[in-house]
This record gives sequence, C-alpha cells and structure tokens, in this order.
Amino acid sequence: MIKKKVIAVVYGGWQGTLRRIAKKTVKRMKQEFGCNVLDIIVGIGPSIGPCCFEVKEDVFSMFENEFGIDYQALAKSKKGFYIDLWNMNKSILLKEGILSENIEINKQCTVCGEDEFFQFGENLI
Ligand SMILES: [Zn+2]
Repeated sequence: MIKKKVIAVVYGGWQGTLRRIAKKTVKRMKQEFGCNVLDIIVGIGPSIGPCCFEVKEDVFSMFENEFGIDYQALAKSKKGFYIDLWNMNKSILLKEGILSENIEINKQCTVCGEDEFFQFGENLI
C-alpha cells in the first residue's frame, strides 16, 4: 500500500555506490519527506553485473577500504577483481533499515545482455 507519494530515481554507477548514494537517498527521503524506512520499496535496475564488472586493483582497493575486505560483493580471484554493485547497494540499503523483501534487483547485466539495451551513439549510425 502506498503511504506517501514520494519517489526517488537515482543513478549510482560505481562511484555513486562507493559514495553511498543509496544511503544518502534514504536519508533525504526520511528527512525531507518524512518517509518511514519500513515503507520504502527499492528497485535496482539494469546495470553492469557482477559477471562483467571487472576492475583494476586501485578501484577494488577503494571498495575494500570503504566497505571492508570481507564484503560479499567483492570478489578477488585469479580471474581478476570483480565488484557486485547490485548486492553492494542492497547491503547498504539493508544497513539503512530497508526491508530485504522490499528490495528487488532486476539482475539484467547491460554488458553481457547488451542486445536488450539501447547504446547511445551506436544506434545513430
Ligand atoms: Zn554481465
């Protein structure tokens, strides 16, 4: 049931995730609009998935330093350094009090599923 007519649309990317844009959004929804965290429903849309988001060690280290080395959304293996932005943002939201059942992750990777998504520039040719 809708409690308030408030919606936030946020673009994160890896830098926004690192700077906890999800946390800042929840904070503003609470402070500016009086939203109850238990009523907030979150949809995490298509983006680069953990399957494809390989980063260099410097970016990986930034996430380790910010979120801790045991963080499940960080994977270091012989294949390289991978970050799961979907679950990283979900964990941030859970820490803010958003209910797990109120967080939906679309899980469509825009890199390996790129045929399903519009690519600005490519389609102009
Ligand atoms: Zn992928």
